[in-house]
Amino acid sequence: MAGFSGIIGHEQIIEHLQNAIRLNKVSHAYILDGEEGSGKMLLASAFAQTLQCEKGGTEACGTCHSCIQAESLNQPDIIRVTHEKPNSIGVDDIRDQLCGDILIRPYSSPWKIYIVDEAEKMTVQAQNALLKTIEEPPAYGIILLLTENSQSFLPTILSRCVTLKLRPVKEELIRKYLMEELHVPDYQADVCASFARGNVGKAKRLAQSEHFAELRDEVIHLMRHLRDMEIYEVTEAVREAVKYKEDIDDYLDLMALWYRDVLLFKATRQIDGLVFSDEINYISAQAAKSSYEGLEHILNALEKAKTRLKANVSFELTIELLMLTIKEN
Ligand SMILES: [Zn+2]
Repeated sequence: MAGFSGIIGHEQIIEHLQNAIRLNKVSHAYILDGEEGSGKMLLASAFAQTLQCEKGGTEACGTCHSCIQAESLNQPDIIRVTHEKPNSIGVDDIRDQLCGDILIRPYSSPWKIYIVDEAEKMTVQAQNALLKTIEEPPAYGIILLLTENSQSFLPTILSRCVTLKLRPVKEELIRKYLMEELHVPDYQADVCASFARGNVGKAKRLAQSEHFAELRDEVIHLMRHLRDMEIYEVTEAVREAVKYKEDIDDYLDLMALWYRDVLLFKATRQIDGLVFSDEINYISAQAAKSSYEGLEHILNALEKAKTRLKANVSFELTIELLMLTIKEN
């Protein structure tokens, strides 16, 4: 389903856009601001499809000629601006595909809609070219700028666009989506949903990644046994961790989730809400053995390890120190 109803979360943005359609107050320029995977393109596509739908409602019908074209990315009046260079959208890209093209009336629909993905990559010249169009758009013209950082736009662009900031989607909604739509098992959905921090795209990617599943199993194994390990086993574990050097942030975040679970269980005695609820035997045993202070200490050590790695302190040294801190607390 490509309309608004297929989108997980973002209720306020959808309501805003649907109200604009209903009240006939659609703006000529919007900025959708959100991190990668957060759903900007889904929202923009649903908005464009709905605006062009032949039924003219606040939700795309999905069956008219325009909707069918839109869903297969062939609607001639929904234009996705592309760029040659991977890291920049130049003035020629914007002039050729947007500023010039928008002057030609729509082919078959009420609107002519331009979607500029990764719009933060527009050069200053490209933004200035776009600005002229945004200042005096044709009545049928709509420009949707998708960005991970709206602060990269010129203030003059910002002041002429309606900015819609994507918020994190509720973990429970993501969890439900992963289980019901993607048939991800519950224990896996729990980890992916909380790990994605409200980013549906990321949750989906994690749930479908064998690599992430392997990483998660590795961390669970370590977390179960780390505190009972002999020193030589810790050294061994550090060597194992080197394999995950590329994903060390995820590795450390998974460890932090584990100790947050231990802390939460210690405080509440509730299994509900734990990320690693199927590890409850280990979690409850560790909660019984640890002090609040010790757990706090571990969570701080995890943060510190991240900072050290960013500052290029030796990987092995940092991880070993971290593991020993965990063992002692
Ligand atoms: Zn339709």
